[in-house]
Amino acid sequence: MTTPVTTSLTTALTTSLLDLLLPTRCLGCGGGRGQLCGGCRTALARLAAGPAGPHPPPPDLPPLHSAAAYADPLRQLLIAHKERGALRLAGPLGTALAAAVRSAAGAGAAPLLLVPVPSTRRATRARGHDPMLRLAGAAARELHLAGIATRVAPVLRQTRPVADQAGLDAAQRRLNLRGALAVPARLAARLAGHRLILVDDLVTTGASLAEAARALRAAGCPPRAAATVAATVRRSGTGPPGAPTCQALSSGS
Ligand SMILES: [Zn+2]
Repeated sequence: MTTPVTTSLTTALTTSLLDLLLPTRCLGCGGGRGQLCGGCRTALARLAAGPAGPHPPPPDLPPLHSAAAYADPLRQLLIAHKERGALRLAGPLGTALAAAVRSAAGAGAAPLLLVPVPSTRRATRARGHDPMLRLAGAAARELHLAGIATRVAPVLRQTRPVADQAGLDAAQRRLNLRGALAVPARLAARLAGHRLILVDDLVTTGASLAEAARALRAAGCPPRAAATVAATVRRSGTGPPGAPTCQALSSGS
């Protein structure tokens, strides 16, 4: 009997197989050959991460840094990875997330723990994969190669179903998510002695990251900062001394 889970997994596997067999145009800019052209790959590797997020930020949102503004071609690449199963984009997008994590984490000797904001079970089943967990793993590998001890800690759990956030304003999103996440006690014990960085692919109103931060604080493990690949709102001049200048990924590169 075919279940929704096996169907979605089959879809993801088929997509990945076709991805290997069929030449495609760049999923970022539509040019070149392959899923990611040289220009987009170079642009991703050179993003200047910096402070980002809504202003004023929602209560509970920790200091937030993003790799770039949510604009094409980065926007197209994130959508292709998340919704179309372009799994090979996880590496380059993870490099961008790693830049945001470095910007957000600042100095410190304690190892980093990247805590992904969880997708709903329904969304993970529909996509056939967990895009944020995959990006967090790619970012952790990138940071580890750079000599920064980093692991991924997927410790956040949903405590109740939430409505689809699409179409909700900032206040409605906060209400929809309030109290929806928690850290089980058996997992909270593993977080001590680390620098916790919340990670997500995109920040819009900051409601999801704020709820995730609240849940970590409630478990006695406050996050040091949050980091995302992209942000619909970027800031400048609000970072710590020496923080990189904000800069959007240039379109079409
Ligand atoms: Zn391209």
